Amino acid sequence: MTPPATSSVGMHAQCHTCNLVVSIPSDSVSSLGCPRCRAPVHHRKPNSLSRTWALLVAAMICYVPANLYPIMKVTSLGSSQADTILSGVIFLAVHGMWPLAAIVFIASVVVPVLKILSLLALTVSVERGSQWRPRERARLYRIVEAVGRWSMVDVYVVTILVALVHLGSLASVDAEIGAFFFGAVVVLTMFAAQNFDPRLIWDQLVSVEGEEEEVDGG
Ligand SMILES: [Zn+2]
Repeated sequence: MTPPATSSVGMHAQCHTCNLVVSIPSDSVSSLGCPRCRAPVHHRKPNSLSRTWALLVAAMICYVPANLYPIMKVTSLGSSQADTILSGVIFLAVHGMWPLAAIVFIASVVVPVLKILSLLALTVSVERGSQWRPRERARLYRIVEAVGRWSMVDVYVVTILVALVHLGSLASVDAEIGAFFFGAVVVLTMFAAQNFDPRLIWDQLVSVEGEEEEVDGG
């Protein structure tokens, strides 16, 4: 086997916990662990692809009830109305609250879908040994990871409304089961992004020398 084009040349690996670069004897796991934080040291995140797959599939399954079931129920003067994510967006748009409708639509529909699709594309490309545009794929991964925390916006909106609108029998807002599934989608995609090892993208470029050589593996 030819050595990978990245940091494993010379038997060094980076600790996933504290980022210390450790020299390790074998190709897989250091028996001693990280000398600084004692975490096990691996060349690549262990079972990265299968873990990412499992979390992604779970996220896709949760995405269905997250959109089909109501995310919150508004009770006002005796009449109550349950809203799914989409019906909530439509409600906001119809009542002229365009900026809020746009924020909720982007945070709860566009971002999760794009995140799941990007991670799927990255995982499939690595699994197929693709050599297509590694830099762009690495950049895509960094974007997915950075955007992750912002998809919580919708859950925040629901929790803030639940906390604020509590006027007893006059009006109240309750979180519904859809919010639980939506939260699960957000958390699962965050874990999926965390379990994907972007260095696998560069491992595919073993035979490609020259211009790719100086590209950072991290
Ligand atoms: Zn460490």
